[in-house]
Amino acid sequence: MSIHEPTRPGAVSGVRLVCAPARPADLLLRDVHALDPRTGLDGRRDVLVSDGVITEIAAAGTLTAPEDACEVVEGEGRHLFPAFVDPHVHLRTPGQEHKEDLETGTRSAAAGGFCAVIAMPNTSPTIDSAPILGALLDAAAREARVPVGFMPAITRGLQGRELTDMAELRQLGAAGFTDDGRPVTDAGVLRRALQYQRLCGGVLALHEEDPALSGRGAMHEGAVSTKLGIAGIPSVSESTQIARDCALAGYEGARIHIQHLSARESVEVIATAKSRGVAVTCEASPHHLTLTDEDVRTLDTRRKMNPPLRAEEDRQALIEGLRDGTIDCIATDHAPHARDEKEVPFEEAPMGTTGLETAFSAVYTDLVLPGELTLALLVEKLTAGLGCIDLLVPSIAVGEPANLVLVDLAAEWVVGESGYESRSDNCCFAGRRLTSRVLLTVAAGAVAYRERSIMLVLSSGGPSLRGPEAET
Ligand SMILES: [Zn+2]
Ligand SMILES: [Zn+2]
Repeated sequence: MSIHEPTRPGAVSGVRLVCAPARPADLLLRDVHALDPRTGLDGRRDVLVSDGVITEIAAAGTLTAPEDACEVVEGEGRHLFPAFVDPHVHLRTPGQEHKEDLETGTRSAAAGGFCAVIAMPNTSPTIDSAPILGALLDAAAREARVPVGFMPAITRGLQGRELTDMAELRQLGAAGFTDDGRPVTDAGVLRRALQYQRLCGGVLALHEEDPALSGRGAMHEGAVSTKLGIAGIPSVSESTQIARDCALAGYEGARIHIQHLSARESVEVIATAKSRGVAVTCEASPHHLTLTDEDVRTLDTRRKMNPPLRAEEDRQALIEGLRDGTIDCIATDHAPHARDEKEVPFEEAPMGTTGLETAFSAVYTDLVLPGELTLALLVEKLTAGLGCIDLLVPSIAVGEPANLVLVDLAAEWVVGESGYESRSDNCCFAGRRLTSRVLLTVAAGAVAYRERSIMLVLSSGGPSLRGPEAET
């Protein structure tokens, strides 16, 4: 299964999510607490996966493994969710493979419970032409551990002037278009892109800031930046650009997706646009939902990202936006950087934090355990990201391809203590003790990640083998 076509009714056809061939799973997940917010499934079940497809869901303790080759996973006390999807990751290939590549990036995704990710085009060279996109899709079919799709650039070289050949890129399987890393500053250019989007499909995903307002800012503009004497990026840099682009999308009848919302004002702008019928969706990141500019006081460059960590009232507005539906999904904006690039003075460090391996646990620890978000809502928002670009929404249902994540909600771990699957270690949660741990990820029907404690037990009663080594 190298090409994973969208399975959702009404999905845009032609988007390609690609991964390396893998043996379809035969798994009996016994006595798990299965939770799928979209189907209402919430209780102890046995879930049988045969040849990569969910074939039976029954009351806990009632299913037996049908054949010798079926692996049995004892799920008592563990939770099973639809696996997560991320519409916003940076895999750094081509050109910056010292930070990440398709293999390490998708391994990191699998370790975080993700069954599909969408990669951004701010690479070297930029993903802005059919040959580059084609080569990446070919590479993903050899190297990617979970299905990966690509969003090529809106403008050539991310220069904000000349549009890419959006129709041709769409025909090749582009998952949408974005100039992420930069805003499309010229309203006329964005308007033409919106007109093409309406014709050839594929959502425009927008990184929103006004460079004239962001200036040389390195963190959120507020009391903390003043105290530290660091130039700030004001919230209005983001919200004014979002207001402009929602107005343009509404005028052109086009679809947009706003990336990494960070500010209260931005949530308000999107709520207003949605109420007026603008076809806009948006995402928020685990770090903006759990950290603030107070966490930047130590000048840890792993907490320098764009948009910056903002004030507590912004964080609260993002949480409320998840609850009331203004914010459609959680996306990590996984942005790996090499250690020597980050080990420089704060103002000089590149922006970005890794996030795939900590997404669920960070939000679960900081928002679900204290009662600010329900577990069901967290799972819903972590599985909604590809829905924003009219693609696969994983589901625990008979007949569906197995896209599943098994989680131990009670397990505690310290971020970074055992290293990372990502090639980079610039994680803003490094050193934090988090509660809940991903144990097993099944992506597009195949086991993509297995935590070491998950034993491989074959139903034949054969020898028990330990985790990853048993995979070959
Ligand atoms: Zn961005
Ligand atoms: Zn990004």
